[in-house]
Amino acid sequence: MAQTKPELDSKTAALMEKAAINQIENGLDEIVVNLSNVRRKNSKLQKTKVVIKKSKIVHYNSLDEHYKAICNCKKCDLSKTRNKFVYGVGNPNADVMFVGEAPGRDEDLKGEPFVGRAGQLLDKILTAIDFNRDNTYILNMLKCRPPENRDPQPEEMALCLPYLAEQIRIIQPKIICALGRISAQALLQTKTPLGKLRKQWHDFNGILFMVTYHPAALLRFQSYKKDTWEDVQMLRAKYDELTAKK
Ligand code: SF4
Repeated sequence: MAQTKPELDSKTAALMEKAAINQIENGLDEIVVNLSNVRRKNSKLQKTKVVIKKSKIVHYNSLDEHYKAICNCKKCDLSKTRNKFVYGVGNPNADVMFVGEAPGRDEDLKGEPFVGRAGQLLDKILTAIDFNRDNTYILNMLKCRPPENRDPQPEEMALCLPYLAEQIRIIQPKIICALGRISAQALLQTKTPLGKLRKQWHDFNGILFMVTYHPAALLRFQSYKKDTWEDVQMLRAKYDELTAKK
């Protein structure tokens, strides 16, 4: 008699996806989730081994090499609607990295992150703390624009995250600043509101990590400007402290 595969309920599928993401971040060679681990949380599941996706983790020697390898990515449906793949911009040896959520309309047309009104505001913020695009690195969690600028979906972020992880591995920044709730919560793997993640240093795989508002939010809510100014001053002070020790 033919055997049918056990059905996965949504809770178990979510647990497996989370485990797979953790495995990607930890750099394992293949993404294998053993259901026997998940089984403790769901006694109905049969003991079996499921391969979600086999994916060799490949490391690159430079951002250029990495870009060439991934710029035609078709891992998710955003590849069908993008105009341009938006990799990142800035100094490959930057100590400070800014991570937004995804390209918008202007970025999708130009192939560069943060080039619209929000990008111009980010440039002003950088100038105010004596940084610029040549001595920092600016990128997004997703490399392709979600239609109508909707929020990135969890599966899109899970598929795209290894690219960001490799960019971080190559650049090796001392400080990462998440711009906005989406990148902050995704990278810290938390649902804590952005307001509660601000004004403190987090640890992201051994790298100092902080959170502030996305410049697009500042364009909508003027009241966030004061908080953002405090955040970027905190960033500048930490950078000065780190570089003074050299
Ligand atoms: S969003 Fe990321 S995973 Fe999806 S197609 Fe673009 S590069 Fe690939």
